[in-house]
Amino acid sequence: MAVHISPLPSVDALLRAPEAEVLLSRFGRAALTATVREVLATRRTVRAFGASAADILGETADRLAIRFARSQRPVFNMTGTVLHTNLGRSPMPPEAAEAAAEAMRGATNLEYDLATGQRGERDDHVSFLLRELTGAEAATVVNNNAAAVMLVLNTLALGKEVPVSRGELIEIGGAFRVPDIIARAGAILKEVGTTNRTHPRDYQAAIGAATGAVMRVHQANYAITGFTAMVSTRALSEIAHAAGLPLIEDLGSGSLVDLERWGLPHEPTPRDSLAAGADVVTFSGDKLLGGPQVGLIVGHKSVISAINQNPLKRALRVDKGRLAALEVVLRMYRDPDRLADRLPALRLLTRSEDDIQATAERIRAALLGRWPDRDIDIQPCRSQIGSGALPVDLLPSVAVTIGGIQLKNIRNILMSLPKPVIGRIAKGRLILDCRCLEQADEAPFIAQIMQAADTA
Ligand SMILES: *Cc1c(COP(=O)(O)O)cnc(C)c1O
Repeated sequence: MAVHISPLPSVDALLRAPEAEVLLSRFGRAALTATVREVLATRRTVRAFGASAADILGETADRLAIRFARSQRPVFNMTGTVLHTNLGRSPMPPEAAEAAAEAMRGATNLEYDLATGQRGERDDHVSFLLRELTGAEAATVVNNNAAAVMLVLNTLALGKEVPVSRGELIEIGGAFRVPDIIARAGAILKEVGTTNRTHPRDYQAAIGAATGAVMRVHQANYAITGFTAMVSTRALSEIAHAAGLPLIEDLGSGSLVDLERWGLPHEPTPRDSLAAGADVVTFSGDKLLGGPQVGLIVGHKSVISAINQNPLKRALRVDKGRLAALEVVLRMYRDPDRLADRLPALRLLTRSEDDIQATAERIRAALLGRWPDRDIDIQPCRSQIGSGALPVDLLPSVAVTIGGIQLKNIRNILMSLPKPVIGRIAKGRLILDCRCLEQADEAPFIAQIMQAADTA
């Protein structure tokens, strides 16, 4: 018996169909036409004739939605790592994000001096704040701390030796390795001391006619304990200065304020390093500082001015959006009393266990409402600061944990939500640390859990 097969509609007919109108206005003619052609072509190859225009345009709409979906999207960070490098590190205060958006939308006085009508310097918008907050003579800003370290070394020690303790030859995430950075900056690493013990005499023996600068690197993401010795910034600065050399200190996370004030572990500040004799200090803007991704360089006027004359500075400079955000964040540091409320990174790090517990209970109830048969529990856990800061100090926190079969399935469901939920699987359970889910985020979190599909 012969089956009557109607031909597929033409591209023209499809574009004229009423269902095409909304697709046309949303995605434009070029993308719509190309995708309609694609759908028709696949239907032909699988000999799926007889489809209606609505059917074909429906598939076209799905494909277009996927193709036009934004790749980078907000997620819920429930990993327990507050400054998670893979999730974009520090959250920013809304005022800072708004300042960035406003600057990016149009023209600004980025390099224009409104007092004189002459050319200005982009660093001027933040360098006075950095000087005020660190006690430095001068300051500049580049793309990130890796760039800051590279630029400082390239400026002070191009073709020269840089003694660094073997206990500080670190690797941090994303392939930042101190020996590689020194080499790529055009300087020559001179290893000093041993992994666990480095003494003043080791540095003295390493310094010679070929030395360009001495460098100290903060032990960011690890700790050496036991039989250890290291040379303090003050002692090392005396050794460097006696030889007429500058001391560079890479602080990594470098907090601008003493975190002990909020019960957090001590982290060295750029102000301390400079006061102890470092000539130039580098640190990140998006780690403990709680701002945008930038590398901050503070120190002697002569060093900063040499850095600003290095042609590499231009290649590493920061755009107006991030500078605008940085200015807002730095201004917040002028009022340390309110910092823990206004700066999200600090607010999350100092959040009370009781508060996190209350969130966890509401989240557990919502998850049980959606998946009543699941094994869903509340457990104490420990958050990490992240970004290599204070690696041995974990913050007591509370997690909602999900157990039972097909754990990967539930994890995938949570990751495919409009605002994906990122947790971690450990010991056969999916752990959702509630530290970074603030009260204002709970309603949208719960609303989308209610809409979640059964399978991913
Ligand atoms: C994080 C870190 C860096 C790199 O900083 P980025 O801002 O990621 O470029 C360099 N040195 C130390 C000690 C760090 O902790």
